Amino acid sequence: MMKAAVLEARGRDGLFLRDVAVPTRRPGEVLLKVHAAGLNRVDLYMRDNGQGITHSLPQIMGVEAAGVVVDADDDSGLRPGQKAVVYSNAFCGVCRYCVAGDQPLCRRAQIMGEHRDGGFAEYVAMPSRCILPLPDAADLVDAGALLAAYNTAWRMLFGKRALRPGETVLVVGVGGGVAVACLQLARNAGARVLVTSSSDEKLERAAELGASGGVNYRREKVARRILEMTDGEGVDLVIDSSGAASWDDSLRSLRRGGRLVTCGATTGSNPPADLQRVFIRQLEIYGSTGGSIEECRQLLAVVAAGGIKPVIDRRFALADLPAAFDRLERGEQFGKIVVTMT
Ligand SMILES: [Zn+2]
Repeated sequence: MMKAAVLEARGRDGLFLRDVAVPTRRPGEVLLKVHAAGLNRVDLYMRDNGQGITHSLPQIMGVEAAGVVVDADDDSGLRPGQKAVVYSNAFCGVCRYCVAGDQPLCRRAQIMGEHRDGGFAEYVAMPSRCILPLPDAADLVDAGALLAAYNTAWRMLFGKRALRPGETVLVVGVGGGVAVACLQLARNAGARVLVTSSSDEKLERAAELGASGGVNYRREKVARRILEMTDGEGVDLVIDSSGAASWDDSLRSLRRGGRLVTCGATTGSNPPADLQRVFIRQLEIYGSTGGSIEECRQLLAVVAAGGIKPVIDRRFALADLPAAFDRLERGEQFGKIVVTMT
């Protein structure tokens, strides 16, 4: 038996720490002993609402996991004792998107922690194509915090339209995992980064990570301040996971021909489109979610080379998962909240 966080009904009171059977590894799968797993906004959404996620309860939660291989097929290239991190999308491998290497668009994606047993557990079994080996020196807590926020950030910055050195990026609402990841990765790529937050403390933390300007959106007019900081030009790229509340400022902060990437809509998903601004200023707006296996490989290589180290906000033991959710729900975190199993 093993301990696992099981969602049995929607809402805060529907999440339980249970003793459940250790997953049975099927051929083609790897059994991983989980060391750490990041907590993400999607977990909170799934716990409390879950609309649009096609799954049935009960469900072991957790869309991330890093740990040590316990058992794998001989021909998997993975050996027991090896450190590894899970690519949480059990992609089909045969649809047109998978064949093109674009796994986040897979038509038959099965996400760990949403459609399959998740990482908030002592063990997890996933297809071996989703198990990415790590160097022996890898920090498993860091690794457990990487593949949701940092891989999402990677694809937003370097996926469809690659960020170039010297460009200016505006990261909206710095503090959340994806926003902090975008700040770090954009800095590492030689870009100038501006941020917004409602908290002066978070703006200071962002400055320590290399942000060259911050706007407190509770006190200041965001677009006006961003234009001041860019000699009236506007930024090349806006990263917005907030949605309705920030959308107008995000569009107004872009330079002519600039681009906006959205990966979330926590404040609402139907802001005014402002189409006149979009076509006259020839803006590009596109969506992004997750990242591909190849993007994961690139990210892991940058981490292994010491390019970036994920910002860990706080660690919680599995038994304290409700408190971890509370911290995420109150938006108190800066960086990643991580749940450790051991
Ligand atoms: Zn597919």
